[in-house]
Amino acid sequence: MSDLTVIPGRETELGDLKIRRLLPYRARRTIGPWCFLDRYGPLSFTDSKPMDVAPHPHIGLQTVSWLLRGEVLHRDSLGFESMVRPGELNLMTSGRAIAHSEETPTDNSGELEGIQLWIALPSSALEIAAGFEHLVDLPRVSLENGEMTVVAGEALSVESNAGVHSPLIGAELRLRPGSSPLELSTRFEHGLLVLRGRVRLNGEQLMSEQLYFLPRGASAIELFAEDPAIVFVIGGEPLEEELVMWWNFVGRSWEEIASAREDWVKGWRFGDVKAYEGPRLDAPPLRPRVAPQPVS
Ligand code: MN
Repeated sequence: MSDLTVIPGRETELGDLKIRRLLPYRARRTIGPWCFLDRYGPLSFTDSKPMDVAPHPHIGLQTVSWLLRGEVLHRDSLGFESMVRPGELNLMTSGRAIAHSEETPTDNSGELEGIQLWIALPSSALEIAAGFEHLVDLPRVSLENGEMTVVAGEALSVESNAGVHSPLIGAELRLRPGSSPLELSTRFEHGLLVLRGRVRLNGEQLMSEQLYFLPRGASAIELFAEDPAIVFVIGGEPLEEELVMWWNFVGRSWEEIASAREDWVKGWRFGDVKAYEGPRLDAPPLRPRVAPQPVS
């Protein structure tokens, strides 16, 4: 399948947690409205706290937390407190402003593996109210050799009840050994990430550390699992708008980003994550090189 582009990803850290960042990538900033994809684990631990992300702000996006192992405790400035576990969705909508923390709870299983994604809100939804949803009963669809959980958006005419703001798909495929054809929306571009097992896409072996990009126009693919496998699929209509992404903000202009940063520094707009014990994250400096300078 020559249409397939490899997004190699890179190793980085989120506090003490080693992560693999697959989106954004310089040659591929977005897949549909999906603009961020971090993968972490699998890891085992005894007396440590592998995830401990202190309160930090977001604008212009929704965060999607999806686990294969372990648990993550979410707390936000709206007052929501929610433990997410494998098979459940934590979906947070920033609207114009929200702050949250994410951490390994004290009472934990000693394991952690998962992904975090961001969905860029379309311009029409940038001013919507911030919100949080925890969904445990996501719809499932049978595949020839497996099952698909529709996490967000719609696939195979089955729709998740997660509140999203543009046509998209986010789905987990659990495959048994064998072949599973999968119909795709030709209007969507797609990304595929193998989370477990050995999988071939239209005969081509996929590597688990990489994200695979499929441009719009594909009406079906064939996935072949050599052993029990888990694949996460994202997709949507290509984003027509140019995003400006900096730190935890998704905007349309540097002015918007600078204003959000200033409000966080001053303690305005985002509110407090009262339940988190410890200081919040400081915004990094907004370096002049990223903003266009006037020529005089
Ligand atoms: Mn966050």
